Amino acid sequence: MYDVAIIGSGPAGLTAAIYAARAKLATLVLTGDALGGQIATTNDVENYPGFEEITGPDLTMRMRAQAERFGAETVFDQITEVDFNGPPFSLVGGSIAYEARTVIVATGASPKLLGVPGEQEFWGRGVSVCATCDGAFFQGQPVTVVGGGDSALQEGLFLTRFASTVTIVHRRDELRAGPYLQDRARQDPKIEFIWDSVVTKVRGGEVVSSVELKNVKSGDEVDFPTEGVFIFVGHFPNTDLFKGKLEMDDEGYVISDRFMHTSVDGVFVAGEAQDHYFRQAITSAGEGCQAAMEAEKFLAGLATEDSS
Ligand code: NAP
Repeated sequence: MYDVAIIGSGPAGLTAAIYAARAKLATLVLTGDALGGQIATTNDVENYPGFEEITGPDLTMRMRAQAERFGAETVFDQITEVDFNGPPFSLVGGSIAYEARTVIVATGASPKLLGVPGEQEFWGRGVSVCATCDGAFFQGQPVTVVGGGDSALQEGLFLTRFASTVTIVHRRDELRAGPYLQDRARQDPKIEFIWDSVVTKVRGGEVVSSVELKNVKSGDEVDFPTEGVFIFVGHFPNTDLFKGKLEMDDEGYVISDRFMHTSVDGVFVAGEAQDHYFRQAITSAGEGCQAAMEAEKFLAGLATEDSS
């Protein structure tokens, strides 16, 4: 029986673990598919306070070590079922069930895809959502980035280390990304933009060789040669597991108050599973801290009930 079981190991989950374990609570981190979540697939993190420059995987390893230093246990397991009729609550993983007096949901969000022909067919053969993971495969080759937000520009800039050219295809003629990244991308000699256009098809043989682009204003279609297609068009929350168990909004984000409480007493939420607005490593980490502090308070209440 754990005091706190944390589902997810991104900045929200690991920060919750640091705070919970340091408060001497028996703390379990269930990592999910991969340790670190989205930040672990980001190469350059330049805006996490205290680290002028650090990679996402490094930041993750430091957070994990910090949590384990206080006694948190990390288990590489994917939770497939939860029973929130508690406390105690039970979580079923790959092969075993875990019991905990409180749960912190920190399952984050995943990248959206385009849903166009060829996208699945060429998955891992030119189509990717992770520049850090796959960028190095495109040494000296032209690649295409889809999207106009911070992710598209940040990852596009990272890809210039490897690719011969990085063409950013955006569906409007105005970027959503912040001014700092816009300036850097516009000044980079390897980056080109194609405006008002969407990818309607990914083509190739063994690997990707081109994308079909449609100009949304003129309707013109062109076959645009490229070896890689990196898609950064937003995210959806990883909350399917909690459908019918926690209150959610129409997009599947868990509804919480400012204390990270969910609709179930003793179950808290932090990070992108409930936030589609700020979506920063630092805001997720802050919410992980809040959720752990609230879990601690909840446990203190349980202890008082037990002793009276
Ligand atoms: P985002 O801000 O939601 O941007 C998604 C982009 O994809 C938008 O430009 C959108 O176009 C486009 N798009 C959406 N659906 C599309 C489709 N079906 N086809 C073509 N284009 C499509 O997502 P994000 O860039 O991943 O950023 C998410 C959050 O993380 C933001 O809050 C961002 O500030 C933050 N973030 C920050 C940093 C940083 O600070 N360095 C880095 C990465 C992310 P429209 O513009 O027309 O809607």
